[in-house]
Amino acid sequence: MMSKQSAVSQGEVASSFMMVQQQIDAICKKIRISETCRLRLRECERELIVHFPVKMDDGQVKVFTGYRVQHNDSRGPSKGGIRYHPDVTLDDTRALAALMTLKAAVVNIPYGGAKGAVACNPRVLSQNELERLTRRYASEISLLIGPERDIPAPDVGTNPQVMAWIMDTYSMNKGYSVLGVVTGKPIELGGSKGRLEATGRGCVICARLAGKHLGMSLEGARVVVQGFGNVGATAARLLAKEGGQIMGVSDSKGGIYNPRGLDVESILSHKEETGSVVDFKKAENITNAEFLGLECDILIPAALEHTLHEGNAASVKAKIVIEGANGPITTEADKILYDNRVFIVPDILANAGGVVVSYFEWVQGIQSFFWSESEVNHRLQAVLSNAFHEVFDMGQHQKVDMRDAAYMLAVKRIADTMEARGIFP
Ligand code: NAD
Repeated sequence: MMSKQSAVSQGEVASSFMMVQQQIDAICKKIRISETCRLRLRECERELIVHFPVKMDDGQVKVFTGYRVQHNDSRGPSKGGIRYHPDVTLDDTRALAALMTLKAAVVNIPYGGAKGAVACNPRVLSQNELERLTRRYASEISLLIGPERDIPAPDVGTNPQVMAWIMDTYSMNKGYSVLGVVTGKPIELGGSKGRLEATGRGCVICARLAGKHLGMSLEGARVVVQGFGNVGATAARLLAKEGGQIMGVSDSKGGIYNPRGLDVESILSHKEETGSVVDFKKAENITNAEFLGLECDILIPAALEHTLHEGNAASVKAKIVIEGANGPITTEADKILYDNRVFIVPDILANAGGVVVSYFEWVQGIQSFFWSESEVNHRLQAVLSNAFHEVFDMGQHQKVDMRDAAYMLAVKRIADTMEARGIFP
């Protein structure tokens, strides 16, 4: 096997986007991608920064900063979520946009990658403030988005209601309803059945395939899930349905653990009542640091970036890690896990279920012809299992791990399109 090298030289602190650039550089070198393609892929094609005013409920006006970044649209319209988070930066948005280009290419859907963000804390905004902020942000970025240009979707801090406001704002400015401008919409507004669960469902499909490769069944597998939001809670619920034993789950307030297994539906009710998984009666509270060292077969980090780092990666006992979140493992942690022979299904494959069903939603909207939930799930299973096998085969052929293999497959597909299109003018 090829040895894993830290992408950051000593003393240098790499930003999220620098880490992605370094990975792209390394992969381009390994599979001999042309210098022109490498230089194009390591930058984002378009970046818009907006500063816009929002009237708050108390009559004050606050100015917010937002971004929309399109990384590369060689394979089709740009696609990527919108994040509302107080700490989000242009650099994070660039990194997430680049991951979207790679993700769409790995699962072979006809999209490029984009990402949007507003630096704000949605938890402290009223519904009216959130709506005004969203509508103004949507107007500000409307020169970039559109069903054939760039299609946003929900990410951390946004949800189907936010997508409905963006769709309505864009449609009002056009003068007619444009369903295909966003995905992740409410079902009654042209959302796809199965979209809400798609990312978690994709994690389970990948866990099943990884388990098969290692001779491990999901039935009876001991599972630990970090982050109990859309992705983590869905993955935990679906894994429990397949006979997996959920040993521990966590959220930003802490973790809970029961060596005899946890009942996911009861934790969901407890979280609904109290706002957190912590203090669940039939479990022990543990810190987030203890949590990652729990004995288990499968670990699903489904919270935020860089939660597995140099300081905690060595404590991981899992045989399989499914990256439900985007970029949850730092370069240094990746090397530690690799040396400990942990089988990692990388984010651009493991959490691609969301963008695949977003693609289905876009297709259904354009055709005004909507599918049943079982049809959506069946097609998702087919797309992801095909992508998993292509990545696995690439890994075997090139003698690299799943992360490098996924990058190789994606970069090669994007480079082939760029070569075929050439350079304008
Ligand atoms: P979410 O906001 O619904 O859930 C995030 C969860 O993580 C919450 O339970 C939060 O309390 C928890 N959390 C935050 N910090 C934590 C920490 N340090 N330790 C433990 N838990 C922590 O968000 P989501 O939509 O589930 O997204 C989670 C991740 O998955 C993000 O990286 C996102 O970019 C990625 N992702 C989401 C989708 C999707 O369809 N929702 C698709 C692809 C990728």
